[in-house]
Formats: sequence, C-alpha cells, structure tokens
Amino acid sequence: MSDLKKRERTELYKDHLVQALISKLVSGEISRLEPSFNSKHEYRYPLVETIVGDQAKVEKLLNELTSAGILTRELHDKVLFCPHCSSPKISTHYNCPHCKSFNISKSALIEHIPCGYIDTEDHFEKKGKLLCPRCRKELVKPDADYRKAGIWCTCNDCNKSFDIPVPSHLCRDCNKRFTFEDAHYRTTYSYELGAKAKQEAPLDWVLTTPIREFLENHGFEVEAPGFLKGKSGAKHVFDIVAFKSEDSKCTTVIDLATSPEDAVSEQPIIAMFAKTYDVSPKKACLIAIPKITANGKKMAKLYNIGVIEAKNPEDAIDVLENAYIRKEKRVSCK
Ligand SMILES: [Zn+2]
Ligand SMILES: [Zn+2]
Ligand SMILES: [Zn+2]
Repeated sequence: MSDLKKRERTELYKDHLVQALISKLVSGEISRLEPSFNSKHEYRYPLVETIVGDQAKVEKLLNELTSAGILTRELHDKVLFCPHCSSPKISTHYNCPHCKSFNISKSALIEHIPCGYIDTEDHFEKKGKLLCPRCRKELVKPDADYRKAGIWCTCNDCNKSFDIPVPSHLCRDCNKRFTFEDAHYRTTYSYELGAKAKQEAPLDWVLTTPIREFLENHGFEVEAPGFLKGKSGAKHVFDIVAFKSEDSKCTTVIDLATSPEDAVSEQPIIAMFAKTYDVSPKKACLIAIPKITANGKKMAKLYNIGVIEAKNPEDAIDVLENAYIRKEKRVSCK
C-alpha cells in the first residue's frame, strides 16, 4: 500500500506543474495553501490556479496530491450550495416553527437574579433604565443584579413565541428556498506539505529543478538525474549531469545532499568519489544543504570534489554562477 503511494508520488513529482507548486511549499515561500473567498462567494486557490492555468483542474490536482500523500489537508470551511442552481450565494433564514414564516423578532431574555423573574429585555426597559416588572428594583450590575438567560423569538405573522427558530435557506441567485436536508454541502480544505513529501521532495527535484533550469539557461544540456558509463563499464547516476553539446567530454556532475537538522556528513563525498573515479568528469560538485561537516570538506578537497554549501537552491545557484559559469567564460573547458 505505502509502496503504491510512493510510486504515485514519484510519478507526480515528475510533473512540471507539481514541481512548481510543491517548490513553493518546500522553499517556505508559502507555508500552506489556504483557499480565499472571492466576491462570487466561492473558495478558490489563486496560487494553484496560476500554476495550473485552469481553474477546472485545481480540485483534481489537489485531490491527487492528497491521495498520494504529498499534501495533507485540513478542514477549512463547509460551504452550502443551492440544490436548484448550484449557486453558493445563500442566505440563512430563521423561521417560526409554527407557521414557517421568517418574519420573526428576536429578543434577549433577562433574569433578575435577586427575585428570579425572567422576561424579554423590552419588559424591563423603562425610561432608559432596566426595572424589574415584578419587584420594581433597578437592574444595575450585569452578572450580579441580572443576567442574560437566552433568547426569545416572536413570530410577527402568527404572533406565537418560541425559543429555537427553524433554519432554512434562500438562494440569492434563483430565489428558491430550501432546507439543509436538500442543500449541497461541500467541504473546503487548506493544504500543507505532507511529512513524506517533506523528506522526499527536496532531494528528488525541488533542488534539482531550479539548478537544472539555471544550467540550461547557460547553454548546458542537462540530465537530472543523469547516467554516465564509467571506465569499468558500470553505469553511475548523478543528481545532475551537465555538458555542452559540442563537447561531451566537458561534463559536470552534481550531487545533492541535505541534512536539514545539522550538517551533511562525508558519506556523499565518499559515494561521489567512487563514481567520479570511474566516470572521470571534468568537474564534480556536491551541493550540501545547508552545510557540510569539516571532515566532509577535508575529504572533498582530497578527492578534488567541489563543495557548495547553500541554504536553498537559490543560494546554490548564486555560488554556481560565481564559481563555475563566470570561470567557464574565461577558461576553455579543454
Ligand atoms: Zn409564525
Ligand atoms: Zn425582581
Ligand atoms: Zn439557486
């Protein structure tokens, strides 16, 4: 079951739209996807719409991402829709339980605490003061002299009184009345990145996507992940393999390692050395997010592997630009 979900996620991660959306969450640019209520009384996800480009596909995508465990969702609101025309422009009526009219008046019930008399507020009001109709004393201190004892409704059509009105709804678009029983009642969610995706996403593509685009913009052909055959005949995989098409020997290999809690160990350097020893790329570089241990640094130097320490892909790109691309322009690769 969880294997199946993982496969689902892996497939979704390959989708460019998914990458664009999730990278916003992984990078911290947004922490959650909250629906916003627009003037048409609809909940929409403007960011997702911008990325997907089609409002009709938003719900499907969010559902897919949730069912694969990439996003987790939380109840945000429940929205009523008209059962006749599907409009969300609904008003709520509180009706007389006797004649169903919504022409009712609502008043507060007040209890005079010392004598225990309860009546609606208007019966206590005398010349701007509150006077108890039973004992004639003035009500001064709320919670000591008197307290609110609920509400009392009176129907202006049939004159009957009651304490609990019966709700119904009016559609402001088609003007039809309906009850909760017939209403369409839909849930709106807010979304966050799921725990699994938080682990997987950074290494899988959130980091490689911007770096890949950056390298492509600088005239590199990029494969991410990329496979290279070594002298031994074995195939090795790197997170990114970049080369200029006119000179395939001028290959740069990049691996990524993250250790969000502390520093990346020397392990990825050792792994990379084994691969680069066989493949002999022109350049090898490890991007360590956010940083690498002193031991890792030492080993990288020994094995001639460049290390970029960066808080996020944008930082890594800055370093790449300074350390590699500018140099590239001055010094031929050959
Ligand atoms: Zn009534
Ligand atoms: Zn009284
Ligand atoms: Zn309607």
